[in-house]
Amino acid sequence: PEGDFDYEVMVLGSGPGGYTAAFRAADLGLKTLLVEKDKSLGGVCLNVGCIPSKALLHSARVIDEAAHMSEHGIVFGTPEIQIDKLRDWKDSVVGKLTGGIRQLAKARKVEVAQGTGTFIDPHRIRVEGEEGTKEYSFRYAVIAAGSRPVRIPGFPYEDSRLMDSTGALEMADIPERLLVIGGGIIGLELGTVYEALGSKVTVVELMDRLMVGADRDMVRPFEKRMRKKFENIYLNSKVTGMTAKDDGLHVTFEGKEAPDEAVFDRVLLSVGRSPNGKLIGAEQAGVAVDERGFIAVDNQQRTNVPHIFAIGDIVGQPMLAHKATHEGKVAAEVCAGHKSFFDARVIPSVAYTDPEVAWVGVTEEQAKEQGIDYGKGSFPWAASGRSLAMGRSEGMTKMLFDKKSGRIIGAAAVGTNAGELIAEAGLAIEMGCDAEDIGLTVHAHPTLSETMAFAAEVFEGTITDLY
Ligand code: FAD
Repeated sequence: PEGDFDYEVMVLGSGPGGYTAAFRAADLGLKTLLVEKDKSLGGVCLNVGCIPSKALLHSARVIDEAAHMSEHGIVFGTPEIQIDKLRDWKDSVVGKLTGGIRQLAKARKVEVAQGTGTFIDPHRIRVEGEEGTKEYSFRYAVIAAGSRPVRIPGFPYEDSRLMDSTGALEMADIPERLLVIGGGIIGLELGTVYEALGSKVTVVELMDRLMVGADRDMVRPFEKRMRKKFENIYLNSKVTGMTAKDDGLHVTFEGKEAPDEAVFDRVLLSVGRSPNGKLIGAEQAGVAVDERGFIAVDNQQRTNVPHIFAIGDIVGQPMLAHKATHEGKVAAEVCAGHKSFFDARVIPSVAYTDPEVAWVGVTEEQAKEQGIDYGKGSFPWAASGRSLAMGRSEGMTKMLFDKKSGRIIGAAAVGTNAGELIAEAGLAIEMGCDAEDIGLTVHAHPTLSETMAFAAEVFEGTITDLY
């Protein structure tokens, strides 16, 4: 667009999508404004998402491992949980990263406007912050306003014992009885944390399975372990009501596996996230937002308004930080006149539970549904020296190959550090590797990464007879 504007690029929202877009735009020489309503930069991911949850999951894993060391002849005492220190530590991790983002913004001369941004027209935004209201004009805009937790109507939200993921990460206390509504990744990760800290955790899930999206055979080892750790897992069940009383939150259920009613000290509602598309005045800029709040974009992240882009959770699934950052780069580069587009073949998913569950590309269930002629190689970690040495042999690595071309089309792993392993499969899919490429690549021994090569060899038939 022609004309004089205050900024070449205005980025709305400073999450992983927004800060990446702003930094890339500035690096490409564009005068950039980053608008963020929160005092801290970094969005959901850094402040109340990926990072604090992983800090706490690390602590949970250490507690759990220490307890299991008795099987190796090493006995630790019962851990003493100092919740204030744990919270401080988690906050310090968040602080390092969010502070880092602010420094990186400064170093690039990205200006930050703190306040709630609302579009006034296709080239202007109003920002209402503590220091008053200001207006800025821009040549290009990148919408990166993210998402928020979904709420089920009728629950007593005024009671702080009913928490969303942000509330759960605040760690006000360690409830004796915690109910997690929703058996997805976020609920299961936070349930894992509270279980390790000493809560009796119950999970209720509407579907007939946990972690919808992953193959059942990959979730099974996780579920088997968690059935021992969690107090209850109610599948095919739903919460029909909740009443706040002095002795706790009284919850009513419907479903074969659940009781009619039970009482909990805290409840975590984690049933999905809703995009913020309707909260930014997008209509004033002419940007189309669907009834759920998502903004449709093309493969250059362009909305229906050609100089306005959108990235991250607000444009749709998968709602993941690494998708947002890649989209952010594309949007910034297109603003700078590059012919970039978002062309990822696959985006990995990881549940940082214990064991971790990770997958990339097509799942086996999708391959069946889509009628893909696929072959498979699975390698049980019970045959991996490394996983045996760690005392954790319940894992499994699985690879799927297109039968005709022999190329890898999907992979999944369940087990300790499965989330780190899946990167190799993602690269293999992007590079169009076949099973031989993977099997002939020398992997260090003994590592869990070997299970990737072994799975490929199982498919090729060069490894048989695993036991
Ligand atoms: P967000 O991170 O949502 O940021 C949007 C920003 O825009 C926010 O800072 C918000 O304040 C700001 N904003 C919104 N509207 C306005 C406005 N009108 N004016 C000014 N500012 C505004 N993903 C992973 O990949 N890995 C994980 O391990 C992981 N763990 C998670 C754990 C939890 C508990 C949660 C809740 C999420 C997790 N996610 C994880 C998802 C991840 O956090 C999101 O996918 C990611 O943050 C999306 O980035 P984004 O840039 O689209 O927006």
